[in-house]
Amino acid sequence: MANKYDVAVIGAGMIGSLTASLLAQNNLSVALIDPSNGCITLSSPPCYDTRVSAISAASQALIEKADVWHRIPKDRLLPYRKMDVWDGLGTSNIQFQAETLGVPALGCMVENAVLSDALNKKNDSLHKIHAYFGEKVVKFQHQDDLIAITLSSGKKIQSQLMIAADGAHSFVRKEAGFVCREWDYGHNAIVSTIEIDRSHENTAWQAFGDEGILAFLPLPSVAGRYFASIVWSVPPKESELLCSLDEAGFCQRLSYALSERFTVLAELSSRQSIPLKQRHATEYVKDRIALVGDAAHTIHPLAGQGANIGFADVKALVDVVSNAYKREDDIGRSIVLRRYQRARMLNNLQMTAGMETFKRLYATQTPLIVQMRNLGMNFINHNSTIKRLVVDRAFGDRKA
Ligand SMILES: Cc1cc2nc3c(=O)[nH]c(=O)nc-3n(C[C@H](O)[C@H](O)[C@H](O)COP(=O)(O)OP(=O)(O)OC[C@H]3O[C@@H](n4cnc5c(N)ncnc54)[C@H](O)[C@@H]3O)c2cc1C
Repeated sequence: MANKYDVAVIGAGMIGSLTASLLAQNNLSVALIDPSNGCITLSSPPCYDTRVSAISAASQALIEKADVWHRIPKDRLLPYRKMDVWDGLGTSNIQFQAETLGVPALGCMVENAVLSDALNKKNDSLHKIHAYFGEKVVKFQHQDDLIAITLSSGKKIQSQLMIAADGAHSFVRKEAGFVCREWDYGHNAIVSTIEIDRSHENTAWQAFGDEGILAFLPLPSVAGRYFASIVWSVPPKESELLCSLDEAGFCQRLSYALSERFTVLAELSSRQSIPLKQRHATEYVKDRIALVGDAAHTIHPLAGQGANIGFADVKALVDVVSNAYKREDDIGRSIVLRRYQRARMLNNLQMTAGMETFKRLYATQTPLIVQMRNLGMNFINHNSTIKRLVVDRAFGDRKA
């Protein structure tokens, strides 16, 4: 006989794992399914995981609420207090400083593997979660008030609600027939970990210019050595060329792209090149199914917001489902799940549109547009009200 749960969460990435944790905390029984084996082997600094995320204060608050944040080793967290954005084709820049904005930090850098490991360990300790690791969802069908799910091993489970957190190429999204608008950003993101010659001063740097869009994410220092993770978005041809360079050549190009604010001494990881696509499902819910995180939307990483908007989805979805559960309502009914979609879709579409505008604005080298965007950047830099609005939007508040 099939095991029965309140919720089946498909995918134990950062988004699915946090969803499972918070639902279990609210007393719902959860099946958590992922093809991985659930064990993450962490590298030791200065070998950092290549994938790093800038976590907003709002996301941090949610992870704290799940009792997970304190499980992240302190030496793997880097709260950043300043952000410096500059236009490589002009003279403008915008600086955001935690101090002047009256917040302790703008956000926190954490390796994806480190956060996932902390989430896995927390979930291991929750008896309301039954993990099916080494398993994929291969089939599902509606059955009266339940959804019946078949796993790759042939095991069958049932749940009232299935939450798809199975990432950008979501199997559930496709199989359930969700319409997803998708287009290429015409950019690949080169991701790598580097060592630099001087302190990054806990500052995130972002350069827009003829060298592409370059995000520089500071990492914890070790024994007087300084490290950072980079996300360098460039057209595919340029990405091929950058990936073909040897270490010395790559470090030299990177130092130039950073306007020589730092000398890049070495590369500590193998370079990854990730094609960037924008995706947005036109609906997030159907009867008994909800999409969350990258399964619902992916955006350009230029402002480091993909996981943060995914965490905001998690908060909204867990609130809606847990409240319905407390009222003894059917948590899988689309009329219930639509509250989640209403709470999140507009916000996510606005963020998606914002990233598209930024990407297009900085893809052009037309002198008039370069001049206008420089004027705009300088105006924002001197206007504390607008800066505050940007910070609230991008870095979030701490209410969870
Ligand atoms: C270069 C780059 C830099 C980024 N930087 C930032 C940043 O600084 N800040 C930020 O907020 N965001 C950032 N993002 C976005 C962020 O990485 C993603 O939004 C986030 O990782 C999505 O997490 P997820 O759990 O939804 O998906 P994933 O991490 O893709 O997890 C999906 C999970 O589903 C599992 N799965 C897949 N198929 C099945 C199946 N059939 N059955 C069961 N399980 C399945 C997979 O094994 C996986 O574990 C960045 C993205 C990129 C590309």
